[in-house]
Amino acid sequence: MSGAILTLNAGSSSLKVALYAECGERQLARGHADRIGPDGTLTLTDADGAALPVGAGPVATHRDALDRVLETLARARPEDRIAAIGHRVVHGGIAHEAPVPVTEGLLDVLDRLSQFAPLHQPHNLAGIRAAEAAFPGTPQVACFDTAFHRTHPFVNDTFALPRRFYDRGVRRYGFHGLSYEYITGELARTDPALARGRVIIAHLGNGASMCGIRGGRSVASTMGFSALDGLPMGTRCGQLDPGVVLYLMTEEGMDAAAISDLLYTQSGLLGLSGGLSNDMRTLEASAAPEAREAIDYFTFRIRRELGAMAAALGGVDAMVFCGGIGENSAPIREAVCAPLEWMGVVLDNAANRAHARVISTAGAPVQVMVVPTNEELVIARATRALTGGEAAQT
Ligand code: ADP
Repeated sequence: MSGAILTLNAGSSSLKVALYAECGERQLARGHADRIGPDGTLTLTDADGAALPVGAGPVATHRDALDRVLETLARARPEDRIAAIGHRVVHGGIAHEAPVPVTEGLLDVLDRLSQFAPLHQPHNLAGIRAAEAAFPGTPQVACFDTAFHRTHPFVNDTFALPRRFYDRGVRRYGFHGLSYEYITGELARTDPALARGRVIIAHLGNGASMCGIRGGRSVASTMGFSALDGLPMGTRCGQLDPGVVLYLMTEEGMDAAAISDLLYTQSGLLGLSGGLSNDMRTLEASAAPEAREAIDYFTFRIRRELGAMAAALGGVDAMVFCGGIGENSAPIREAVCAPLEWMGVVLDNAANRAHARVISTAGAPVQVMVVPTNEELVIARATRALTGGEAAQT
């Protein structure tokens, strides 16, 4: 019987599950439940990408999705023994700069942080509870999206509010840290000189953010206190004048729940495209002017943030695109980069269309790259390292 590491990444309506060999970095299977609820879907593939039969049945809850993945894996890979389980946890608060083993005390602390990430943290914690129930006594590890950003300097950690709010935890935490950690590790492995320099990473998926990195450490990020700030996203608004929230309360009579729903689930690409779609592929295929405007706003805000990040870092040596949009959409990368020749960004259009690893011209001052991210592998490495398996590899 061989040991395996299970990783869980529970979003508000999605669950990503991966299975890794306990030794080495080989992925044995990966599952993805999407739109969990009445229309939920579930796919599971083996190490070669072949579909494993998940059968029919509801994907109404995260628990349904996990149960069906585990049942299918037990049938398809009866030789595996789950040796440890790693979880993506969106919020680790100010105390956690690295992954930690899950304990009852930790869950209490993380539960209190749910107030800072109400749409994500409860699902992450539910995933840990579900895994505890399915594998009692198996070691579990929590890996935090905020941890990578704990190196932010004070000026990028604070808001200009009275200091008591900072002390209570009202800070710019930054998210997508597992993705940034993976990309930073990849750069250190393949381009060590570049990795020591000034790098801006754009993680562009359904959630989207950017991170400015100097010497391998996070200096600035577009996401702040919540996963709402910064770039517009599939359904989230991105940067917003707080005066708009005051207006929504006082003039439109909206309460906190209605505003939360508006900003998290009805805004971003979906809202700007007039309700057409939150999905970039659908918008790119659409002839509707609102779809074009939504895309234009998305790429404009990325360029604005690039300028701000460049200033925060004191220049840029490399830019990396990752995430579903960043890795797959040549038109979006071109729309972002083409107007940036003034800052040394010179795209090689053929390389960009071919999704090459380096998509800038040889000798351009800023090296532009496409690097597929792998948050699951970061979780698996940390889980292995903290539960007595092989030392973490970066
Ligand atoms: P999540 O943040 O949920 O992990 P992903 O990183 O999977 O999301 O990114 C999902 C986004 O990537 C969607 O907007 C999807 O349309 C977009 N995307 C995926 N493939 C392509 C493609 N070939 N061209 C344009 N956009 C794409």
